[in-house]
Amino acid sequence: MHLHHLCVELQNLGVKMPATYPGRQGGAGPAEGQVILIRDRYLNVPTSSPYVKKSPYRIDAEGEKMLLKRDEVNVCEVSVPGRPSYYSGCTKNGIPFEKIALLHGCDCFASTIYQNCAYRQTDQQCKFCGIGMSLENSKTILKKEPEDLAAAAAHACRTDGVKHVTLTAGRTEDEYEVLSHAMQCIAAIKKDTGLPVHMQLCPTDRPGIYEELRRAGADTLGIHIETFDEQVLASVVPAKAAIGLDRYRENWLKAVEVFGPNQVSSFLIAGLGETQESLLEGAEYLCSIGVYPYVLPVRPIPGTALEALEPPPPEMMIDIYEQVAGMLARHGLSYRKSKAGCVRCSSCSCLNLFEDYANRTAKE
Ligand code: SF4
Repeated sequence: MHLHHLCVELQNLGVKMPATYPGRQGGAGPAEGQVILIRDRYLNVPTSSPYVKKSPYRIDAEGEKMLLKRDEVNVCEVSVPGRPSYYSGCTKNGIPFEKIALLHGCDCFASTIYQNCAYRQTDQQCKFCGIGMSLENSKTILKKEPEDLAAAAAHACRTDGVKHVTLTAGRTEDEYEVLSHAMQCIAAIKKDTGLPVHMQLCPTDRPGIYEELRRAGADTLGIHIETFDEQVLASVVPAKAAIGLDRYRENWLKAVEVFGPNQVSSFLIAGLGETQESLLEGAEYLCSIGVYPYVLPVRPIPGTALEALEPPPPEMMIDIYEQVAGMLARHGLSYRKSKAGCVRCSSCSCLNLFEDYANRTAKE
């Protein structure tokens, strides 16, 4: 099986891990699962959601080796990255760096700088979000201070070779409060490390905000609509439905004007109940305005409203990835051109593998 097809199967069906690898539970980003290294590719795979029990894939530790098996037949050797060294460091106030930011994928320093959300536990909350769970489990702290992030990032550069930064945050009542905090965090990290920084935010009407973020040191932005299916938008991400597609469009256009094509992205989640047509039309639209559609399968987090959902079947995901990879090529976009963030990391999606495969076969 080709690597890109195998990775889709692993990411959409999940992998049973030896009991000694608990993975993450709760938080933002890939909040349930484990990063594995398979043929030089870092891939974030589900490991503990209930549907993983049905997966034909498992990883067994055999002596020094980690073997990926499908229905008990060996597929290939894999490895599981060890605990990053910087996790053992701490801030000047004694907060462990592990509670400040996590290593995502291969080399991405990732933090939820404000680990709560004005929509949490209201009927406006995004149904897939687990932002408060790692706080409740004492795995993190509510608000990360700029100097602590900068200290952790500088340490992680030295000990773990981090190359870029992803920052995200929940909403505050006053939208500028979290944006202002984000800019202080970005500026502090930039000053101490020079690393390229990605910031995820909601559309905003505040004049000049994208120029402000750029001046603070942000290199790329994520403005995530999640789905273009209006019914799904209203039922799964009601706060985003209330913001409305028009404001997303205005914000994407403005952000691309300031940050440039390929440096703005939007998550498009497959498997929320959307029509495939809406996803593909949305991806084509995003590509046409220079926004990278970061397509990925839904990753239901145990304990959230969507915990019973399952990622889409691999065949459906393969079809979507092939079509979106074609769109990216036609519009001159690629994960390779992204300076920082989820698109550069690409651990939660297989789209980059389909980009690479299409490139290779075009050259042959
Ligand atoms: S793509 Fe990478 S940076 Fe983004 S959420 Fe997934 S692991 Fe984190």
